[in-house]
Amino acid sequence: MYHTVVIGGGCLGAATAISLQHKLNKLNIKEKVCIIDKSVLCAAESSRHSGIVRSANADQDASLMASESTKLWKNLESIWGVDMETEQFGAIWIAKKGQDGENKAWKELSKRMKSLNIEFNEIDHTKASDLCGKSLIINEDESYYYEPAALQIDPSILRSTIYDALEYNGVEVLEKTSVESILTNDNNVTTCVTNNGNFSGKNFVNAVGAWSPQLFLKIGIKIPVTIEPVSVVNWMESPKQIKHEYPIIADYVNLCYFRSWRGNKLHAHQPRKRSVYEIAKNFINDLCAVNGGEYLNEPMNQSLAYNQIKTYEDIARKRFSNIDNTVYSSGYRSFFDITPDLRFILGEDSKFSNLYHVLGSGQAMKYSPILGEAIAEDILKRPKNINKFDYKKFSINRFGDDYMDQFWNLVNGEENTLHRQGKNTL
Ligand SMILES: Cc1cc2nc3c(=O)[nH]c(=O)nc-3n(C[C@H](O)[C@H](O)[C@H](O)COP(=O)(O)OP(=O)(O)OC[C@H]3O[C@@H](n4cnc5c(N)ncnc54)[C@H](O)[C@@H]3O)c2cc1C
Repeated sequence: MYHTVVIGGGCLGAATAISLQHKLNKLNIKEKVCIIDKSVLCAAESSRHSGIVRSANADQDASLMASESTKLWKNLESIWGVDMETEQFGAIWIAKKGQDGENKAWKELSKRMKSLNIEFNEIDHTKASDLCGKSLIINEDESYYYEPAALQIDPSILRSTIYDALEYNGVEVLEKTSVESILTNDNNVTTCVTNNGNFSGKNFVNAVGAWSPQLFLKIGIKIPVTIEPVSVVNWMESPKQIKHEYPIIADYVNLCYFRSWRGNKLHAHQPRKRSVYEIAKNFINDLCAVNGGEYLNEPMNQSLAYNQIKTYEDIARKRFSNIDNTVYSSGYRSFFDITPDLRFILGEDSKFSNLYHVLGSGQAMKYSPILGEAIAEDILKRPKNINKFDYKKFSINRFGDDYMDQFWNLVNGEENTLHRQGKNTL
C-alpha cells in the first residue's frame, strides 16, 4: 500500500510526488509515493509549454503564487533535493495606450504588484530598445512594462530534472501504465486499476489534466476541464539580431508571446482566449464533456497548416523588423487545458476525502513547485506555504450543479443560447 498514488505524470503530478516524498523522507516516515502515467513523464501538455515564468497577473492570488513559485524555481534544491538551471532575462509587456495616452489598467496593475513586492514598472521606448535591440518594433501609441524577475525554463532541462528528482527522493515511477478505473468505498478512494495491476494507497492525487472528466466521471465526480487549441512556431534567428539573452515579449497588441531558445530560435505562441464566450465554445454544450485528453497526443492533431504558419509570420512581422528574413524552423499545434473560469482545480475533493486535485488553468507549468508543495502539505495536514493565498477559491466545490446551470447564462444570457433552446424543445 502506497502512502500516496499520484495519477498523471505531467509537471503538476511530478511536482506533487517529489514534494510529498521529500517531506516524508525528511519526517523519517518510511512510506512511498508512486506516480503513474499512461505514457511517459511530461509527454502531454508538459512537453509543449514555452517555459515562461511570469508573476504579474490581474488575479492577486495567482500573482502571489507565481512569485513564490519563481523563488522556488531558483532554489529547487530546498524542496526537491536537486537544482535546475533557469534563465532570468525578464519580460517586457506591450499594450496599446488609451486615448488619453495612458494605460490605466496596467498603471493600476503596477501599483498592485508593488504592494506584493513584484516589480512591474512602466519603461519608456528607449529602455525597451536598449533591452531588446533594434529588431523590436516600437510604437509611440504603445506602453511598455518591464518585469525583471521573469524566468525562462528550458522544457527539456525541466523534464530531465523531474526524472532526477523523482529518483533522488525515491518516488516509484510507473510509466506506460494506464489507470482504467478507480475503486472506492464510502467516502474514500482505495485502488487504481491499471493495465499493469492494481495499486492501493492511503491518498490519491488527480493530476491527469485534460483527461480528468473522462477518468473521474467513472466514480461520479464531474470535472469541468476541456482543451483549447493553440499553435506554436519557431524561427531560426541570428544572434546578431536576437541574442539568446532576449527578454520574453508579452505582446498584448498583437496577442502573441515570444521568447528565445538556445541555438537562437525565436519562439511564438498565442495566449489563451479570455472571453467567457470563447471559453464556452470549447466546452460545446456540456461542461463535463469527455472531449479533452485524447486529442492532445493524437499525431493527427500535431501539425500546422501552411496558412497557420503564415498567420504567425504576419503577427511576428508586426513586432520584429527582420522576421521575413529568418527561416521557419519548426511548429506544432497544441492545446491548453482550461476550466470555465480559467482557474485551477486544487485541493481536497468534495466527495472523497483522500482524493486531491491539481490541474487546470492552461498556464500551470510555472506554478508546479508551489502547487506540488501545497498539495503535499494538504495531504500531510501540515501548515501550508500556500496559506497566504486564497487556496479555497480554487476548490472543486465551486463547480456545483448551480455553477454548471448558470454557466451558459454568463455566456450570452441563457435565453439566447442554443443550449437553452435545446433544453426547452427536448
Ligand atoms: C503552447 C503552450 C505553451 C505553454 N506555455 C506555458 C508557459 O510558458 N508557462 C506555463 O506556466 N505554462 C505554459 N503552458 C501550460 C502548461 O504546459 C500546462 O499547464 C502544464 O504542462 C499542465 O501540466 P499537467 O501536469 O497538469 O498536465 P499534463 O502534462 O497534460 O499531464 C497529464 C498526464 O496525465 C497522464 N494521464 C492521462 N490519463 C491517464 C490515465 N488514465 N492513467 C495514467 N496517466 C494518465 C497523461 O499521459 C499526462 O502525462 C503552455 C501550454 C501550451 C500548450
